[in-house]
Amino acid sequence: MAAVSSNQDPLAPVAAALFHPLGVDGVYARTALYEGMIERLTAWISRQRDPRAEVLRFPPVMSRSQVEKSGYLKSFPNLLGCVCALHGSEAQIRTAAQEHETGGDWTRALTPSDLVLSPAACYPVYPLAAARGPVPAGGLLFDVAADCFRHEPSRALNRLQSFRMREFVRIATPEEITTFGEYWMARAPQLAAELALPCKLDVASDPFFGRVGQIMAVSQRQQALKFELLIPYHEGAVPTACMSLNYHRDHFGGVWQLANAAGERSHTSCFAFGVDRLTIALFCVHGVDVPGWPQGVRRALAI
Ligand code: AMP
Ligand code: ZN
Repeated sequence: MAAVSSNQDPLAPVAAALFHPLGVDGVYARTALYEGMIERLTAWISRQRDPRAEVLRFPPVMSRSQVEKSGYLKSFPNLLGCVCALHGSEAQIRTAAQEHETGGDWTRALTPSDLVLSPAACYPVYPLAAARGPVPAGGLLFDVAADCFRHEPSRALNRLQSFRMREFVRIATPEEITTFGEYWMARAPQLAAELALPCKLDVASDPFFGRVGQIMAVSQRQQALKFELLIPYHEGAVPTACMSLNYHRDHFGGVWQLANAAGERSHTSCFAFGVDRLTIALFCVHGVDVPGWPQGVRRALAI
């Protein structure tokens, strides 16, 4: 897959038009060309939203204890980024900071704060909804977004450490969740077609950590709990997951005690747009000359 600075890479010219290196793999400065398209795509996603959805935007950090309680450390401990800071008295903080001046390692004095970098946009919404009381008849629907972090440094253009995620999240009965999932599975390929992006919808699994994780991934596939909309960035490329549908069954319902007025535990599901991955796909497939893009795509994106 594409490396931002590799000469042989077929995507190198695209990468050069979209990103500038910042000294760490998977973290890039974004050009005006790229950010302009992110805005168009973001507005296009908003047009796909059910008018009943409640819109919430989250910061790039979230409560550490909420992520811990969600079970993230059981599944993806390797991907989580924790915000650390220098705690203590003025003297202790000054001593630690001065370590750096004398060639020492100031980071040894760091201790965790109560924040982590959000690993997905939907995690904060479940406790927020639970705090409001019983889930109303008809369930809940949210449109959420966040800058997400996953510790997976890579030079590949499709594997960023810091990326934007947009999600439609449903909290409802199992039957209502099935309807939600069927809708988005049918809709996802249509959305890709609107943007003239080649695609394939496939059952998928998360990259659960370690050997136990491999068993979890097999079970997730067997139960068809995750689907991905895969887009090849160029001919012959291994396709990239640019949208995904996740069905958590009653996991978050159990963790946060989400239930309806009758006390029946809610199920949850989310449909995620990888905003950066989709934008990169647009440039890889249609090129960096936006006025030359297919008319239908330009119309869809209101360019
Ligand atoms: P997931 O929670 O893994 O299903 O991710 C939701 C969406 O975020 C995926 O469909 C991708 O489009 C996007 N995504 C996941 N990981 C990355 C990454 N490392 N870089 C860019 N986008 C990503
Ligand atoms: Zn989600």
